[in-house]
Amino acid sequence: MQQNPTKTITLLGSTGSIGTQSLDVARMHGYRVFGLAANSRVELLARQIAEFHPAYVAVVDPEAYDRLEAMLAGQPDAPRLLKGPEGLRQLAAMDGPDVVLNAVVGIAGLAASLAAVESGHDLALANKESLVTGGHLVTDAVRRAGVKLLPVDSEHSAIFQCLQDAHAAKRLEKILLTASGGPFYGMTAEQLRGKTKADALKHPNWNMGAKITIDSATLMNKGLELIEAVWLFGLPEDKIQIVVQRESVIHSAVQFADHSVIAQMGVPDMRIPIQYALTWPDRLPSPVPELDFASMTKLTFGTADEETFRCLAACKKAIRKGGLGPCAANGANEEAVRLFLEDKIGFLDIGRLVEGVVDSDSFGGDYTLADVYECDKMARSYVLSHI
Ligand code: NAD
Ligand code: MG
Repeated sequence: MQQNPTKTITLLGSTGSIGTQSLDVARMHGYRVFGLAANSRVELLARQIAEFHPAYVAVVDPEAYDRLEAMLAGQPDAPRLLKGPEGLRQLAAMDGPDVVLNAVVGIAGLAASLAAVESGHDLALANKESLVTGGHLVTDAVRRAGVKLLPVDSEHSAIFQCLQDAHAAKRLEKILLTASGGPFYGMTAEQLRGKTKADALKHPNWNMGAKITIDSATLMNKGLELIEAVWLFGLPEDKIQIVVQRESVIHSAVQFADHSVIAQMGVPDMRIPIQYALTWPDRLPSPVPELDFASMTKLTFGTADEETFRCLAACKKAIRKGGLGPCAANGANEEAVRLFLEDKIGFLDIGRLVEGVVDSDSFGGDYTLADVYECDKMARSYVLSHI
């Protein structure tokens, strides 16, 4: 067992919801930060630099890069700056950290995940889109490099925690992937039709970035997580059952050959799974409050309504098709969510467009990274031509 938990991390997507909570964990345990990366929120990034003194900082948006460069001009201990998607990739590959935590949102995180793994780093992965778009590239690279892929997504962390008994893990029969159901649980298509972005951005249990909050309202997030679970745990889609657990207290569960079920529980706070990915296989004290069983009066369960929430049905179809199917679903969703957040399409259009792209091709077979980007582009243009 490690006596001194001091670690050095590189954190990609440091200005986001997962990024800032990761820095809470780093602060609490005195972790060093080798590198930080973000897209554009340079004021926050500058505060993070002043506190954590990273050696390198990547800024993807070129205008934001120029602003940060100007803000840091003349500071003797300023970090070296890297620019654009290539800068992000370079930072992910650099020697220095014990682990790279990828909390970028969207397919923009894929190249960085691959770069981190291919250069021999353990990868703590919040960016589920890496596995959804390039699942076989990422998992092949992890195998080749002999590194660890540590899930940060709360459900996948829960499953991972339930599978720590390596002997029992060989007898895994089924995964019970929990879902809160989101803000629109139980509603009909008719009730969903007029939902606005303000309605969809109100999540009952979690406070997250805008894209994943919309994904939670459409159940796309659960579809992406189903695909993520297939890649992480090696079970086929039909052995992963989605269970609605309204309070987000049971973060997921596993069922073994003897039908014994083990679940992981806790208050809904991402700092638990973030910290577990960083301290695994150890556990350290956490600032997160305990689950209070004395005041918890009920746990509510239900099923996910795929007939109404078409994104989930589309993700299932996509993983069954295999190959680039999930990448196409993801690309269509990223584009559709962007349009929804700009008030250009309605709530139900998101599912219609994601399902439309999945139905438009067979998608099977092996693929390269270039194929992934090509498919992503195709899915986005499908969306733009079908709104
Ligand atoms: P967010 O929008 O709050 O933050 C996203 C981060 O990515 C920011 O730091 C932003 O600067 C960076 N970014 C955006 N576009 C980029 C680009 N093109 N290149 C490089 N960096 C870019 O998102 P979030 O809620 O923190 O989610 C991050 C990832 O974690 C997503 O994949 C999400 O699905 C996953 N996740 C989030 C939560 C949560 O509670 N927020 C839970 C589980 C999984
Ligand atoms: Mg999740």
